[in-house]
Amino acid sequence: MEPVHIRDKHFKLFIGRDEIQQRISHMAQQIEQDYSGKQPIFLCLLKGSFIFAADLFRAVNMPAEVSFVRLNSYDGTNSTGEVNTLLAINDILQDRHVILVEDIIDTGKTVHELMKELEYLQPASVKLASLLSKPDALQHDVTIDYTGFVIPDKFVVGYGMDYNELGRNLPDIYVLADQED
Ligand code: 5GP
Ligand code: MG
Repeated sequence: MEPVHIRDKHFKLFIGRDEIQQRISHMAQQIEQDYSGKQPIFLCLLKGSFIFAADLFRAVNMPAEVSFVRLNSYDGTNSTGEVNTLLAINDILQDRHVILVEDIIDTGKTVHELMKELEYLQPASVKLASLLSKPDALQHDVTIDYTGFVIPDKFVVGYGMDYNELGRNLPDIYVLADQED
């Protein structure tokens, strides 16, 4: 596989599309079992999770709803530590079973803040599905209920994830080449 170039950086193939889809069908099966007889709402964090969320949502064979929230904490390849709400939650989540859908849990700040806000909306339950988890970068108390892949603390792009807004449409996941070892 050829490395890809995005702006000033080189990226190498890291997780291929087939492996991603296999993992997603496994996650979907777990969700179907856990939410049997319920009608969960998938709350997707834009923009990074939109492709993962679309695949996970389609893989789940049960009545389910979808909605979106947009927060922002990333600048280039670094977390800024500040979370801003760019698109707020518009749904009535009271007594609903919410599944947050994230691309990556890095420091955990974004999801930690969102969980606090969600409490005010009094959902019946909140669980977290994240395609990737970087436990070495975690700084907040966040539990991932459905994890795709546990990865080292390296910067990745593709499959919805960006480097300064580019790279989201790569069908596979790539890692920053200089950080590979
Ligand atoms: P956290 O608040 O957990 O530090 O950051 C979470 C958000 O930062 C993720 O939802 C994702 O949008 C972004 N992020 C964290 N690590 C990476 C990464 O390696 N690559 C990309 N493209 N975005 C990342
Ligand atoms: Mg994100």
